[in-house]
Amino acid sequence: MCLCYLDESGVPEIPGNSTHFVLAGIAIPIERWREADAAISEIMSRYGLAGEELHTAWLLRKYLEQSRIDGFDVMDWDQRRAQVGRLQVAEIHRVRKLGIAKRNSQLKKVYRHTNPYVHLTLEERNQLAFEIAETIAKWDWAVLIAYCIDKSYFLTKIRRDHVNESAFRNIIISFDKLLQYAEGFNFIEGDDTHSQNQIREHGLLIHDNNATVALKHTRHMRTVHADVLRWQMNTFDRIIETPLFVDSSLTRMIQLADLWAYSLRRYVENDDSSLFSLLYNKRTLLGKTQHEFRPAIVQHFAEQSCPCLICTNSFELES
Ligand SMILES: [Zn+2]
Repeated sequence: MCLCYLDESGVPEIPGNSTHFVLAGIAIPIERWREADAAISEIMSRYGLAGEELHTAWLLRKYLEQSRIDGFDVMDWDQRRAQVGRLQVAEIHRVRKLGIAKRNSQLKKVYRHTNPYVHLTLEERNQLAFEIAETIAKWDWAVLIAYCIDKSYFLTKIRRDHVNESAFRNIIISFDKLLQYAEGFNFIEGDDTHSQNQIREHGLLIHDNNATVALKHTRHMRTVHADVLRWQMNTFDRIIETPLFVDSSLTRMIQLADLWAYSLRRYVENDDSSLFSLLYNKRTLLGKTQHEFRPAIVQHFAEQSCPCLICTNSFELES
């Protein structure tokens, strides 16, 4: 059995404030979950972040206060926290006096989200993200899947469904392909070589909780299950249940999907491959099948001439 943790980056709304919408997943066999969780917790602890959420976008921002503190790099963690806190209090006081309520609440939001990480320099925070990405890349039992939509290209196509639903539909297709592929390795050794039985590989989707998509994705998955039953399909029948929606701040593996989604959007939007290049590897093309067809499970829905690594390595999926 395989768990696939999903998170998104960018907004599905058109135009919205991102050119892309990315839905990304990290699929882990259940027997590896404890190992995966422990490895990430160990890294987080070393950076003074035991029990804290890993939220990549907030982690990797430039923190203005840090650049205003002389000798920040040589201070210990407690000194750094105290100095950043002092500047933040002064800034909130200054903005409050200006009477701009919106700016004040924005500031508080930034401080709340970045608070766990303020004792680390930007270099250390980048190093942390790299270490985590490198760790994930070494897990040859974990598979990364993703569907990245260039929304400007999406608009040029006649699409019945919404950006978000389209991404989710493709994630289901990729996850099912992955489960079919994994199934190829599942055999029970019988008493003799003639009685090998294949075991069905099952999968479960676990999604970052998001009130706007929870109902849509649940309905979509129910429709898929109903179709499987009605048409006796032997695709999509490996995925069980409707997606489970969990709190990303409490679920470590969702936070890894967040890092993966973040790295993809940085790559397709800004051509920044620093994290992406660590994570995108040959496991995103499933091994050769009898038809020499290698389904790509990371896809970029973009113009045909897109020169990115994803587009140049992948094949059209039958859907
Ligand atoms: Zn591309």
